[in-house]
Amino acid sequence: MTDHTNADTLRTPIVAVLGHVDHGKTSLLDKIRGSAVSEGEAGAITQHIGATDIPLDTISGMAGELIDPTDFDLPGLLFIDTPGHHSFSTLRARGGALADIAVLVVDVNDGFQPQTEEAIDILRRTGTPFVVAANKVDTTPGWNPQDGEPIQKSLEAQSERAESMLNENLYEIIGQLSDAGFSADLYWRVQDFQKNIGVVPLSAITGEGVPDLLTVLMGLSQRFMKEEMAIDVFGAGEGTVLEVKDERGFGATIDTVVYDGVVRNGDQIVVGGQEEPIVTEIRALLQPRPLEEIRTEKKFEKVAEVGAAAGVKIAAPDLDRAMAGAPVRVVRDRPVEEVVEEVKAELAEIEVDTAEDGVVVKADTLGSLEAMANALREAEVPILRAEVGDIAPRDIAVAETANQDEHKAILGFNVDLLANAETELENADVKLFTDEVIYQLIEDYETYVEEKQRAQQ
Ligand code: GDP
Repeated sequence: MTDHTNADTLRTPIVAVLGHVDHGKTSLLDKIRGSAVSEGEAGAITQHIGATDIPLDTISGMAGELIDPTDFDLPGLLFIDTPGHHSFSTLRARGGALADIAVLVVDVNDGFQPQTEEAIDILRRTGTPFVVAANKVDTTPGWNPQDGEPIQKSLEAQSERAESMLNENLYEIIGQLSDAGFSADLYWRVQDFQKNIGVVPLSAITGEGVPDLLTVLMGLSQRFMKEEMAIDVFGAGEGTVLEVKDERGFGATIDTVVYDGVVRNGDQIVVGGQEEPIVTEIRALLQPRPLEEIRTEKKFEKVAEVGAAAGVKIAAPDLDRAMAGAPVRVVRDRPVEEVVEEVKAELAEIEVDTAEDGVVVKADTLGSLEAMANALREAEVPILRAEVGDIAPRDIAVAETANQDEHKAILGFNVDLLANAETELENADVKLFTDEVIYQLIEDYETYVEEKQRAQQ
């Protein structure tokens, strides 16, 4: 666990990695974890639930001469590493984004794609500082890496053809960032990473450019955490639910990222739930065991407490009604009612305007539900009901009550149709749309509406 006592008031920054599917998010996280471990130090990384903590010493070892560790008073970086969870970039923490900083991965050959655009919209709306990882440079024909050198050296050492191909692709990305309203440049030309987006060419497979990325992330975090973050690392814990999961022997649990304060076993907590906030008491705080122990023993290890920033699994009664994306608050030194009101107020901030008639919207987290609602408002599609969770029989029943035929539809973002809802859907006059890209989902729905209208004429 990160020793947050010697970090003054700076806690470990929370980093999200986002980008279009197949652009290399998983590979980049694997590479960062793998090279941290091969740095060989004890405690090179600490595996959390849904996150990996890399301490400053390890980062500085990985970045070689690019980083002078004495320039930093951050304990390290906590990477949220559940990219299967596409929408974790939309996760919130007290009005802002859960992630303090983000890495936007863009395939250098493929440029901006729908999920890249969506990620950019979210980063803009939440004001999250970010760096662009222009990934897969090694796929450029004739790529000639300079082992162990900063990526700028490798770019300079390319054959003319490879250099011009790379430059063309990199400037395409810089241009697309500019179209999106961000001034951006190759990272070694950027003076102030808060004003300009640094683009780091890299390869998540060969690892070139990864030290450069870590260097830029450390620099950006250091400034951001110092200037923007008022954090009480020793106070009552606050976090956000990543996922609600049934765990054998524990019942319903919540995978939580703690972004502030300390959470202790036995603490009373308030968690955002489907209808009302849930007030419960922590029965166990669980962390993954080291990989080599998992084969012989149980998957988790019980811990007495965790301090921000950390990912932890919380086991407690009544968590089956918890919502992914909802706030988690420890009740300490103040009345529980006050905390319940705070959680309610935080949930109320997530604005979804509903109408008398409209479509049913389901999404995997509160943040993605909000992103869906924003996109639907722009597309002028009214919403009858919006909820977090997989598509259940009740949703189909609600969709059927829509007045206009074209509104008898369910739009599901990153969610599944529950097995017990399948027959219900077959027998109902309701159209189901699901996708992992908001823009695609809405486009599919609009095409359906147009076809329906044309058929009626
Ligand atoms: P994600 O969907 O964004 O998590 O993407 P993945 O990490 O799963 O990568 C998608 C595919 O691209 C996989 O087959 C990776 O091996 C490949 N890939 C990712 N990064 C690189 C890279 O830097 N170079 C090369 N050559 N392939 C890569």
